[in-house]
Amino acid sequence: MIALAKNKGYQYIDDRKSFDGLKVGSAVELPLLGLIANTDVPYEVDRQHEDGIYPSLAEMAETALKALSAATKDSDKGFFIMIEGSRIDHAGHANDPLAQVHEVLAYDKAVATVLEFLEKDSVPGVMVSTSDHETGGLAAARQLHAAYPDYLWYPGVLANGSQSAERLAHNYHENLLDKPKSDQKSFVTSQLEEALGIYDYSDDEVKLLLEQPDIAAYMFADIVSRRAQTGWSTHGHSGKSCFTQCSSLMLILFPAADVNIYASSAKAAKDLVGNHENTEVGDFLRNYLDVDVDAITKELKQKGTQFDTKGADGKTVSWMGKVPATEERLDGQDHLEHYAGDHKRHKRHVGCDCGL
Ligand SMILES: [Zn+2]
Repeated sequence: MIALAKNKGYQYIDDRKSFDGLKVGSAVELPLLGLIANTDVPYEVDRQHEDGIYPSLAEMAETALKALSAATKDSDKGFFIMIEGSRIDHAGHANDPLAQVHEVLAYDKAVATVLEFLEKDSVPGVMVSTSDHETGGLAAARQLHAAYPDYLWYPGVLANGSQSAERLAHNYHENLLDKPKSDQKSFVTSQLEEALGIYDYSDDEVKLLLEQPDIAAYMFADIVSRRAQTGWSTHGHSGKSCFTQCSSLMLILFPAADVNIYASSAKAAKDLVGNHENTEVGDFLRNYLDVDVDAITKELKQKGTQFDTKGADGKTVSWMGKVPATEERLDGQDHLEHYAGDHKRHKRHVGCDCGL
């Protein structure tokens, strides 16, 4: 892909040095492709110690905004940018409140950068910030014992930590699994103290970390969550999940429990005030930009057919997906019973009226 991009005349950057060479956008020559990490950029709580390797979300946002603004200064069409705080979701999946709060703060800085840009720029624009789902079922409350809980949450615990559970587990797996148990124990306890700021760890917690290193990421995150009295209901996505894609003007994504919509101007975005279906965010952005989404959708569908492939059943599968018949769900899960969870005891009595 990189070779293809370079062949097509893309400017290409892949590290802090080449990113800095963009001079906050003034040295950008579009089109530009920037791939600054092999997989995910490290969590912000880890990245902030590695600022010399990876630029922050806010820095990348500022660079992109300035480059796009300069590139469209003589155009009457303006530009659209999507900035995603994508690892808030990952930290939710990991149930790691320490990693997550730093992701949210990094996202907040990126939002501030966008707002500052809009304030200074002479061209009218709007920022819309929303999410397509919540992850983890995060709750600023957690009951640890049978006794009726105090109404307390301890976010201060999160201020004492400086590394993600993912990073700690990675270091543990990379460097210690072939070492004696005593080395592993001193690593685990020193990391709990130094990286997480936790000194009241129990013997059971340390024992679990030593006996089940494969769940180390889960344990490190859980040890922090319990002390912060931060609750989680799942390692997956929670209710209110919507996966409809929307074509958007300036859409920034992050998960919120009852998904919020923010905008840079309540006046410009008055159609988004109140409660909305997520597709209405796309409608708003399409109308604000006055772009013909149907035309581009048609073009994508036409050009996309060259990527069609044959499925196992020999039928052609389109990369654009298929249009489901009304009685058929896309995920093929329509055969699942209403409830098939761990606590299920009885088969439903079909055809009798006993009520079970
Ligand atoms: Zn997710």
